[in-house]
Amino acid sequence: MENLYCQGCGVGIQTKDPEAAGFTPSSSLEKENLLCKRCFRLKHYNEIQDVSITDDDFLQMVSSIRGANGLVVHVIDIFDVNGSLIKSLPRITGDNPIILVGNKLDLLPKSTNRNRLEQWLRSEAKQAGIKVKNVFLISSVKGTGIEELTHEIENDRDNKDVYVVGTTNVGKSTFINRLIKQSTGLGEVITTSYFPGTTLGFIEIPLDEETSLIDTPGIVNKQQMAHYISEEDLKVITPKKEIKARVYQLNNQQTLYFGGLARIDFVKGDRQSFVCYFSNELPIHRTKLDKADELYENHVGELLSPPNEKTMEHLPKLVSSTFKLNGGKTDIVFPGLGWVSISGENTTVTAHSPKGVAVSIRNSLL
Ligand code: GDP
Repeated sequence: MENLYCQGCGVGIQTKDPEAAGFTPSSSLEKENLLCKRCFRLKHYNEIQDVSITDDDFLQMVSSIRGANGLVVHVIDIFDVNGSLIKSLPRITGDNPIILVGNKLDLLPKSTNRNRLEQWLRSEAKQAGIKVKNVFLISSVKGTGIEELTHEIENDRDNKDVYVVGTTNVGKSTFINRLIKQSTGLGEVITTSYFPGTTLGFIEIPLDEETSLIDTPGIVNKQQMAHYISEEDLKVITPKKEIKARVYQLNNQQTLYFGGLARIDFVKGDRQSFVCYFSNELPIHRTKLDKADELYENHVGELLSPPNEKTMEHLPKLVSSTFKLNGGKTDIVFPGLGWVSISGENTTVTAHSPKGVAVSIRNSLL
């Protein structure tokens, strides 16, 4: 099994993990023109499929993109900005310009203020040390914003290559597949070619005679909620369509549980509404603050679910952060899950989320 490499992208071949880079079923090992599953699908179905690599492997890509010259398109999930921004990106991209693409716009309520959303993405990127040239909001599934973005890419790339980077699950393959369909109306078969100097599975999709769009493997980020939970639970927390606000009038000393994955305590303040934006399928449970711990201990995984049993084996303990708010509409953001919008004065809330999935606040998007 040693020393087998994909003839398409150069990645080392493995037969154990279908989701990881370089997977090939053992039955294909004998083939003369050995391709990993990702290159196979691209070659025969014109379709990109995401594979994942670890942060460490990703850091190894540093030299290859740094040394290259091109435009970097960083796709993130606007539902999980903290979990999908690649903090090590500047180390990787060197001086190459970066376009930040916020995907899954279709899931946000129609009334979302897009300017504010863009500003927030910009400031989150800046905080992570990522200097972006421009921010775009798109829906890869619906096609919203794709045309504008492709124009921008065409302008900014300056006849150079385009590198598409993202963590897993942000919709990077859906995005690239849309680009492929758009540019190959001719039904032309896409060729993949070995990217010199890496064995990390970059795939090249020709843009013209000289330059390519390069799909890099998705990075597994430990701060992603998706990383800790089972496939069944991921289905529940991932919104499938536009999310509807769910409004709770709360008195202080009340708590809301979002499944059993996160919780918000209304510690201090006048009676007010807590407007919750989560997957419509994620159950929200109201209780008294002084009963909240007990409820969790006795009912996590049942009344408070997800998590299901499988998730509970891996899910880190909930940890809390306290926020003092003084008027102005504020969102308490639970990365990968959703957010709660409140606007009371002299209000204190405590937010609980799995350790490693940090809660943050922002000016309300609505
Ligand atoms: P990748 O791992 O980054 O390549 O992500 P995929 O393209 O496989 O997408 C991950 C999940 O997000 C899939 O369930 C997609 O259907 C979904 N997805 C991707 N783009 C969008 C989008 O624009 N809107 C919505 N609602 N879902 C999306």
